Amino acid sequence: MEVHAVALTAPHLNGLKGDFDPIAIVRAEPLPPVVAAENGVHGNDDKGNGGAKQKEIVLGRNVHTACLEVTEPDADDHFTGDKDAYMAAVLARYRNNLLERTKHHLGYPYNLDFDYGALSQLQHFSINNLGDPFIESNYGVHSRQFEVGVLDWFARLWEIERDEYWGYITNCGTEGNLHGILMGREVFPDGILYASRESHYSVFKAARMYRMECVKVDCLTSGEIDCSDLKKQLLANKDKPAILNVNIGTTVKGAVDDLDLVIKTLEENGFPQDRFYIHCDGALFGLMMPFVKRAPKVSFKKPIGSVSVSGHKFVGCPMPCGVQLTRMSHIKVLSSNVEYLASRDATIMGSRNGHAPIFLWYTLNKKGYKGFQKEVQKCLRNAHYLKDKLRDAGISAMLNELSSTVVFERPHDEEFVRRWQLACQGNIAHVVVMPNVTIEKLDGFLEELVKKRKLWYKGSGGDGVAPSPPCVAVDIGSENCDCGLHRKTGLDVLF
Ligand SMILES: *Cc1c(COP(=O)(O)O)cnc(C)c1O
Repeated sequence: MEVHAVALTAPHLNGLKGDFDPIAIVRAEPLPPVVAAENGVHGNDDKGNGGAKQKEIVLGRNVHTACLEVTEPDADDHFTGDKDAYMAAVLARYRNNLLERTKHHLGYPYNLDFDYGALSQLQHFSINNLGDPFIESNYGVHSRQFEVGVLDWFARLWEIERDEYWGYITNCGTEGNLHGILMGREVFPDGILYASRESHYSVFKAARMYRMECVKVDCLTSGEIDCSDLKKQLLANKDKPAILNVNIGTTVKGAVDDLDLVIKTLEENGFPQDRFYIHCDGALFGLMMPFVKRAPKVSFKKPIGSVSVSGHKFVGCPMPCGVQLTRMSHIKVLSSNVEYLASRDATIMGSRNGHAPIFLWYTLNKKGYKGFQKEVQKCLRNAHYLKDKLRDAGISAMLNELSSTVVFERPHDEEFVRRWQLACQGNIAHVVVMPNVTIEKLDGFLEELVKKRKLWYKGSGGDGVAPSPPCVAVDIGSENCDCGLHRKTGLDVLF
């Protein structure tokens, strides 16, 4: 643990040598120190569980070690300039930290490759699109014209006429899910929510918030919803309408639920179109799928009620945002319930980020359909490259056909996980190959992983004491597992 602390704090202190005196901001530590967070305790009441490998989250106790304290200005600040210098130093250091962290980012589905320099002139404005994008508000500093332009683009992508859809730019993918599922509940107040176990946690959060009955449906090994289990669950609840969350790319495995099969399963089991509502959670792949040949199509020509996508993931918006589209007919159901308002109150949030639509508008204009297509192809190609290299190195790994999320055995060392900002669940970790993840970056990652792995698993299988790579057959299937038991080498291959 001691060693980790030195290794992680030293480089970014050194990185700033010469810029300013690090002693002067000794209290300001922008990067949460790995050791403190891993132990899950404040520095001075460490109970000494330094051997703990897993990140421990202590509920009911907030970690304050990484806090940048706010200090009151001194009376003479304006002529000494000390405070300004202090703040400039903190920000410079933070910026360096961001640069370094951006360089070593692989685990979250965020496209960190963009240049919005042209929009920097707008940061001086408090742009707010409060309320409905299609209804003018008296607040004039808004960007509705950009917002509606972006929504129209998505309406074309998802095949719905301009006067038949309603939508808005949300604060994130979660808000889209909250909205889509609310829509389902407003259309079918006694409906049951069905979602696969590997759905994003925001779906189950929605069920709790809205106090909806929720049925968790099993998944296939790929992470896709298992429609035979869905059928079973539907038949057991035939008396109530069905509200479905369909995943267009699950968070952990990047699995795409088979929308057509879900619809078929509904219709064949006593749920005609007027007894179900489908929300498509496309947070991750909602904007990648349309560009993948052979991928099932998300389209309002099919009986779906809403689609949402995150704007800060594949699209590469520097602030969290998302797009939510639904049918005008549904929104009428929702807003008729709040008719006492002069306006239409159909968004989850009141005030809404007016900068986000401009960033989206800018990117859509710059890249266009063709640009996204190229980026998707690059991501899929690079994801295959990573998966193949991992397997070549004898590391368990899986890549779903329509996905750029490479799932592999969880690295043994939390330090490594944090360095590359990998998202982990149980014995598996993943890398989401976004447009900013180049072959060079993947090579650097692979080289480091292979080298470290030799150290972690030195002598494994020999004395039975040294750790060995985890078995991940239950997570990604035995055919993708390269643990001692499932490895296909030599004679095993014959069987
Ligand atoms: C990321 C994600 C979300 C939530 O999106 P946020 O923008 O982080 O709120 C929802 N569903 C899936 C499948 C996701 O991957």
